[in-house]
Amino acid sequence: MPLSPAQLRELLQGVATSSPDSLDCDGCCDLFAEFAEAELQGQALTGAYAAVRNHLRQCTCCAYEYETLLEALRATEDPDNA
Ligand SMILES: [Zn+2]
Repeated sequence: MPLSPAQLRELLQGVATSSPDSLDCDGCCDLFAEFAEAELQGQALTGAYAAVRNHLRQCTCCAYEYETLLEALRATEDPDNA
């Protein structure tokens, strides 16, 4: 039985605003380097990467550390060689 538009909207809003944070800070940290590479290369951020991104949205501490890593990676990348 299909969902009504109201049910569907409620479902989508729930996903957008309160997706469960399936990673803890340690698990997130372990994936930082891989995740940064994937993001810099424009890869689809699915699966474990989506979990990392989700955690970063909800954890300012990890978000700060990730930004620092990302800046360092960008600085070492040769833009002419991309
Ligand atoms: Zn965290």
